[in-house]
Amino acid sequence: MVSAGIYLHIPFCRTKCIYCDFYSLPGRDEAIPRFVKTIVEEINRCPVDTGGWVFDTLFIGGGTPSILEPKQVEMILQALSRRFDISGLREITIEANPGEAPEEKLRAFLSLGINRLSLGVQSLEPDLLRFLTRIHDAEAVYTTFRSARKAGFDNINCDLIFAIPGQTIHNWESDLKRITNLGPEHLSIYSLTVEEGTRLHRLVNSGAVAMPTDEESVNRFYSTMEFLAERGFHPYEISNYAVNGKECRHNLHYWTNDPYLGFGPSAHSYDGRQRWRNIPDLDYYMEQIESHQSPVIDRYTLSPREKINEILGFGIRMSEGANLALIPDKYRVRVNTMLDEILEKWEGYLKRENDRLFLTRKGLSFADAIAVDLMLDENPGMD
Ligand code: SF4
Repeated sequence: MVSAGIYLHIPFCRTKCIYCDFYSLPGRDEAIPRFVKTIVEEINRCPVDTGGWVFDTLFIGGGTPSILEPKQVEMILQALSRRFDISGLREITIEANPGEAPEEKLRAFLSLGINRLSLGVQSLEPDLLRFLTRIHDAEAVYTTFRSARKAGFDNINCDLIFAIPGQTIHNWESDLKRITNLGPEHLSIYSLTVEEGTRLHRLVNSGAVAMPTDEESVNRFYSTMEFLAERGFHPYEISNYAVNGKECRHNLHYWTNDPYLGFGPSAHSYDGRQRWRNIPDLDYYMEQIESHQSPVIDRYTLSPREKINEILGFGIRMSEGANLALIPDKYRVRVNTMLDEILEKWEGYLKRENDRLFLTRKGLSFADAIAVDLMLDENPGMD
């Protein structure tokens, strides 16, 4: 049996944040009832043979899934339990934005079995929240966090962003202090990235906004790690920190190449052999399902080379490292030869211990460059 996850993409949001490249839609709440029926139908008709999988995580993401009414979430959960054996779910996460999830609603989510809350805090500084075009303030963060505790959530993640233009070291340390003082079990901490197609991308390209330098971002990354270590958080993945035992099991599925099924527009799936994704277009997604067509737009089978690249590329981002034992025996010699060269090139940044390949502390800030070097080139014997 292999453990597996389920992801639901709920694309609705109150506004579109300046930096966001997720598939999310403001101003489409009128479509929610139809969307719920559609995603239920997508689940009912899921053709994937999941025999041999044990679903142990469910992640309800988006968008802002807490916009849905508990009754609507319940309808989707019921569809999942009719179509799959979900009796083994141990971690069920829902994402929410500060100020958009009152205690009563959180209590109702908890009563549906949802046992983990992920809060999109991003910052507590008014100017930075304004820059990010977030619509909450610090007070809303405190209120929603406390409401979640009162409702009974004992596993809460807060998302935070660093390397925001105008963010001083003082701002950032103050955010970290105030958030860790609240006592979350998990923190996802990302540097602000400029994704193509976003408003932020246009502003940076036109010269209207200057991003912090790489050196500033790297310094911030290491000082964050030190600060959080003192507060009992360990970085089990390059951007994710948890107190012991509260690592996000769902994300670990992605990073350890486990299978997962995704439902909703833009959701990705992987069955251990193929990857596919749904169209990132709400109307087209609903029309396809309503007319008994598939919402899938890309499907491809991973070659052995691509699988190995994923094992290495995702694996080195985790503190436990890439698991080289997952590489099939017939490719071991080739991979070992490549690794010897890369380990020499990145001496002091990358290390190998038996069947694990790790980044050293110094190597963490070079993760992307090292991952690029680790990617096997095309090879007729492996594709
Ligand atoms: S709330 Fe989250 S998903 Fe929605 S637009 Fe903002 S960053 Fe994107």
